[in-house]
Amino acid sequence: MIADRHGRVADSLRISLTDRCDLRCSYCMPLTGNTFAPSEEVLTDDEIVAVASFLVRRTGVRRIRLTGGEPLLRAGLVELVGRLAATGVEDLAMTTNAQLLAGRAPALREAGLTRVNISLDTLKPDRFRELARTGELQRTLDGIDAALEAELTPVKINTVLIRGVNDDEIVDLVRYCAGRKIELRFLELMAIGESAADHDARYMSTTEAIDRLSERFRLVPHDFVAGETSRRYTLSNGDGTKHTIGLISPVSDSFCSSCRRLRLGATGMLRGCLMNCDGPDLRSILRSGDPEWETRLEAKVSEAFHQKPWLSEMTTAVTMHRLGG
Ligand code: SAM
Ligand code: SF4
Repeated sequence: MIADRHGRVADSLRISLTDRCDLRCSYCMPLTGNTFAPSEEVLTDDEIVAVASFLVRRTGVRRIRLTGGEPLLRAGLVELVGRLAATGVEDLAMTTNAQLLAGRAPALREAGLTRVNISLDTLKPDRFRELARTGELQRTLDGIDAALEAELTPVKINTVLIRGVNDDEIVDLVRYCAGRKIELRFLELMAIGESAADHDARYMSTTEAIDRLSERFRLVPHDFVAGETSRRYTLSNGDGTKHTIGLISPVSDSFCSSCRRLRLGATGMLRGCLMNCDGPDLRSILRSGDPEWETRLEAKVSEAFHQKPWLSEMTTAVTMHRLGG
């Protein structure tokens, strides 16, 4: 078990499988001029499995989430998922834009992927094009249906609240998700990377989203669950139907003090916090050929978790696709 000086125990690992992406969401990645890690610097499947299996066996990690960049771009993903599932981890999830999910969902489920969170910021095709600057809304919608059909459940949708861009769709997105029995989670826009420049104008708090939803639905908050990033509410419609949504508020109500995550970057940097720009480099240990690599790895993992701040400061000097959001 790895605990930090505040008593937080690391039980969840996010693995960025690539820093590349097939979309260019305006709040995440520049449209042009991106530089990506050369392939020889990206962890191989064997290296990812070695770290994951060590953390599952020797520490308290029970949950793994695959992310990126776009994790579906990783070659050999189904096989990697199978190997990660075989580590015995209890929950193996993925965060994806779902552009490439339709058709691949059954194989991923079969390999041991438990569930998916799909990012969807709009239901309007033109707006999708403006926001993502490439790709097709319909492909993401098909990916959502495929995930439901393959029982990658519970399927959750992540929507970043962006004032003046998609705040007029809050109710429509709730209705879309309610119709499919999908939990929708509204995320506050963070002032990192591409969204830093116009953050003040674009940011909308989850409190404001709740106020808007209260005009249409009766909302009942769930009890707060320590360690959960989202605060959940049950929405009741006039016709008696109920639906659960979640609110993730990294800006207005930071959940740092109960965060139990470790993050493994695509090139092998381990971070205790999304906002820590640096952390120990595991790749050099994995490639050292040292028979004592597990002992060295353990020391580095403890170091990363110990560096985890109690309350993190937002930094604009990083981008989500690189960090593995
Ligand atoms: N490409 C995948 C996807 O979009 O689901 C996984 C990686 S993406 C970096 C993970 C999540 O980070 C997405 O839900 C995305 O909306 C969110 N994200 C990216 N930049 C953000 C920002 N500036 N503020 C809040 N969320 C952000
Ligand atoms: Fe790609 Fe995800 Fe960033 Fe959008 S949010 S550009 S899909 S990594």
